[in-house]
Amino acid sequence: MKNILITGASRGIGRAIAIELAEEGRELVLTGRDDSKLAETAKLCEEKNAQVLQITADLSNPEKVLEFCEKLGGYSFDVVVNNAGIAIVESLEDLKIDSWQKTFDVNVTAPFLITQKLTPKMPSGSSIVNILSVASKTGFSNWSSYCMSKHAVDGFAKSIRGELSEKGIRIINLYPGSTDTEIWDNVPGQHNLEKMMKPQAVAELVKSAVSQPFGTVVEDIVMKNLQ
Ligand code: NAP
Repeated sequence: MKNILITGASRGIGRAIAIELAEEGRELVLTGRDDSKLAETAKLCEEKNAQVLQITADLSNPEKVLEFCEKLGGYSFDVVVNNAGIAIVESLEDLKIDSWQKTFDVNVTAPFLITQKLTPKMPSGSSIVNILSVASKTGFSNWSSYCMSKHAVDGFAKSIRGELSEKGIRIINLYPGSTDTEIWDNVPGQHNLEKMMKPQAVAELVKSAVSQPFGTVVEDIVMKNLQ
């Protein structure tokens, strides 16, 4: 496992995954929009002796996603983590088409394009990890655009499994429950972050899944707080 791409690595779950996978002999490509936050993640990974390439990219624009993939043309990734995501929580009555579209672009179109453009160069034994959600499996009032997007990627990812398994590429879908990150800052209401899972727990599971021996795939993992 040498080359690793992580989207949404500037904070939260993406940052935790980057730090967990960082080690000597690995090159991590980290992306997000916030340069200074990305640099903080990069420093933490470099302290673990990983090499880091930081690329700023806005994944809400499919053209920019394609440019981003072009920049990565020379890479053969062993692990790609589709983690970047947004949650816009609005009732059906208030749901704006812009919120719907932006959610679709960041949460669905970006992982689709990244997967389509990068898998041709990925070697046998490599892994695509999709950070989905328990919202891929059920609906929550006022979360319809988010649930729509997570259901969509789940269906997409499960459908390409057969195509990619022929090339030895594993699709690992992870469905976390509530996790203590800044995603909750924009969610209306009171949230008990203390009781939520920590990003580190998600990151440890990602590491375990991508470290399985060739020929083994951990396909679908639901993880949530016990209480
Ligand atoms: P977070 O702390 O808000 O982090 C989201 C990440 O996505 C940031 O690094 C952000 O980077 C990036 N991102 C957002 N919009 C972007 C855009 N337009 N272009 C490029 N990057 C963008 O949230 P998180 O909780 O760690 O979420 C990570 C993933 O876990 C998401 O897919 C989320 O749906 C999923 N998840 C979260 C929870 C939870 O309870 N926290 C539960 C289940 C699943 P910049 O701001 O620098 O662009």
